Amino acid sequence: MGGQIPPNDWKGALNVSYRIGPGFTDDFKSQFVRMNIHTNNQVGRIYNVIGKIRGALEPDRYVILGGHRDAWVFGGIDPMSGAALVHETVRSAGRLLSKGWRPRRTIIFASWDAEEFGLLGSTEWAEDNAKLLQERAVAYINADSGIEGMYTLRVDCTPSLHTLVYDLTKERLEFAYSCLSTSPLALHSSIKTIEGIDPLAHSLVLCRISKLGSGSDFEAYFVRLGIAAGRARYTKNRRYSSYPVYHTVYETFEVVEKFYDPSFTRLRAVAQVRGGLVFLLADSQIIPLDANQYAISLNTYARSIAAIAQTHREEMRSYEVSFDSLFSAVENFTVAAREFHELKCHPLQVRAINDQLMYLERAFIDPLGLPGRPFYRHVVFAPSSHNKYAGESFPGIYDALFDIEHSADQEKAWNEVKRQISIAAFTVHAAAMTLKPPA
Ligand SMILES: [Zn+2]
Repeated sequence: MGGQIPPNDWKGALNVSYRIGPGFTDDFKSQFVRMNIHTNNQVGRIYNVIGKIRGALEPDRYVILGGHRDAWVFGGIDPMSGAALVHETVRSAGRLLSKGWRPRRTIIFASWDAEEFGLLGSTEWAEDNAKLLQERAVAYINADSGIEGMYTLRVDCTPSLHTLVYDLTKERLEFAYSCLSTSPLALHSSIKTIEGIDPLAHSLVLCRISKLGSGSDFEAYFVRLGIAAGRARYTKNRRYSSYPVYHTVYETFEVVEKFYDPSFTRLRAVAQVRGGLVFLLADSQIIPLDANQYAISLNTYARSIAAIAQTHREEMRSYEVSFDSLFSAVENFTVAAREFHELKCHPLQVRAINDQLMYLERAFIDPLGLPGRPFYRHVVFAPSSHNKYAGESFPGIYDALFDIEHSADQEKAWNEVKRQISIAAFTVHAAAMTLKPPA
């Protein structure tokens, strides 16, 4: 092994020479470590805390803000930097209530337990209430860690929330720009590259919008029940798998106060985005979900999965694999979405239109689930099979293509690709039908 010998007080107690960087050389492969691991397996009681504000006009329509409360150690970042924001949102809603305000739809606040043990609290509640949620849930906004870096706002959400996120962050940007006298609109040409504002420096940074993966409590709501979902946090400027103190004893309030957000303006920005999403989803007359954005994303995902398949051009030809049905379904969806949003809405139709918007996400659920993953039932999105924190689009097709390389029976493997393309095309087409006028 290469590298310098470290200072004495950096060394551990093992009978080896301790060295620091630049990395391991090949002779590391001849070294073995025996690890003795002790774990406890016991049944314990967990507690979810649920609060509700009954909607004034549509009490049977739910907008949920949920985040976990349990932590591996002190949880200064994960989850308390986010859990505190739920409390502040509840406090703000309470203030509005005392002034006589009441949201149009019911708002549900949830503080989940046992997230770190496998999303247990949130999943139990989703299962207990599955029938009600399938019928009545408009959206689920997740409230895990509010900050994991100092660089930019990051929102992961379903495509139908893109426009709402865009408008919310643009509002913040326009306010900031009024101090800078530059046109914000020029910077807002693409939903993928929204410019946000660093609340401290007033300097331009990106607001990153990406797909939902998993590793937090929205999972059962989004990929199992098919409820439109989103999450927001302040993030770091590079693609580390996580921030350095993640899940360690060093995640304290002090580390947030001293390093991550000394003025707490970043966390306030995150609270405004999360709270803004909940408030607008619960109180707008027409639910602010945008099917056109779903169409744009479906198009992007279909092109990208077809491009991956094209790396096997010859096999595609000999096994007669084609993405035409999927592209045709996406086209149907695009037309249906455009016509849906162009429709003039009579006041008496508001409820019907809103139901179409609410059930759009549900339309992407395949009750049979993905191969080998029966609880992942969303045909367009799933946590990646190779990194649970990341999201994958058209996961059924993606995984079938991924398996091609390792498959002895090529014909069988390509038949599975074809089957997955059919499922995706069928589901997208069926989703398009839900956007058509009812009769
Ligand atoms: Zn967490």
